[in-house]
Amino acid sequence: MYDLVIIGGGPAGMTAGIYAVRYGLDTLVLEKNVVPGQIATADRVENYPGFSSISGMELMNKFREHAEHAGVSIRNADVKTVKDEGDKKVIITDDGDLEALAVIVATGANPRRLGVPGEDEFLTKGVSYCATCDGPFYSGLNVIVVGGGESAVTDALILSDIAEKVYVVHRRDELRACSLLQKRAFDKENITFIWDTVVQEIQGEELVERVVLRNTKTDELTEMEIDGIFIYVGINPNTSMVDVEKKGAGFIVTDEKMECSVPGIFAAGDCRRTSMWQVVTAVSDGAVAAISAHEYITSVKYDN
Ligand code: NAP
Repeated sequence: MYDLVIIGGGPAGMTAGIYAVRYGLDTLVLEKNVVPGQIATADRVENYPGFSSISGMELMNKFREHAEHAGVSIRNADVKTVKDEGDKKVIITDDGDLEALAVIVATGANPRRLGVPGEDEFLTKGVSYCATCDGPFYSGLNVIVVGGGESAVTDALILSDIAEKVYVVHRRDELRACSLLQKRAFDKENITFIWDTVVQEIQGEELVERVVLRNTKTDELTEMEIDGIFIYVGINPNTSMVDVEKKGAGFIVTDEKMECSVPGIFAAGDCRRTSMWQVVTAVSDGAVAAISAHEYITSVKYDN
């Protein structure tokens, strides 16, 4: 029986682990992926204090090294379900069952699908969700980026150094991304913005060849020849393994102590319903969740 099992080894999970071992909790971090955390796919992180510019992978490696140095145990396992048995939680994984007094869910999120015809058919054949991963395939070609948030603009900038032309297709006429990123993108000669427009369909034979665009104001449809489409229309949390109160696409509802609707289950980072999904907020959530879990575990041990 562990004191605490943390599901997810991204920034929130690793920080929760560091805090938990410092509070003397017998802690295990379970991670499904060898390199966890959406941030590991980020080309550059420039808003995490202490590092003016660092690759997402390097930052994630530093978190992991720090956690291991602090004494956090990390194991690879895919968590299928968390069963609440009152003072005990049973964590059912593809590698056997575990028991803990408390659980922190720090499972992060994945890119949301656009949900248009052709998206699934052309996945890896011109449809991508990660410029860092797939951008190099588009050297000298023309691509579109869908979305107006930080992910879309960040990856449009990455692609502008690889592709011939980058078209950012956004459903409104104003970006959601921070003004620094906006300025960088507006200054790039090979980035063109297509405002008030959505992608209606992705077409081609073997590979993506064109998209059908729809103007959201006039409903006019146009076809555009393109070699690749990079989609950034938000994130979906990975929370299906836990039965607690959720909102929207499945973001876990917590109080300010990161506790969920079930006592002894806490959530931290991108899987949590919050107003901001950043590395800096994920690590903050992780620290709060670990301290709250320590309080909870102490009360369970004391009461029994
Ligand atoms: P996001 O901020 O939710 O932006 C999603 C974008 O996609 C919005 O511009 C939205 O349009 C658009 N959109 C949503 N559904 C759409 C649809 N069906 N069709 C067309 N467009 C659609 O998502 P994100 O950019 O992935 O960012 C997620 C979180 O990670 C944010 O909190 C962000 O700040 C954070 N993040 C931070 C960094 C960084 O700090 N460097 C980098 C990447 C991400 P509207 O604007 O009209 O809603």
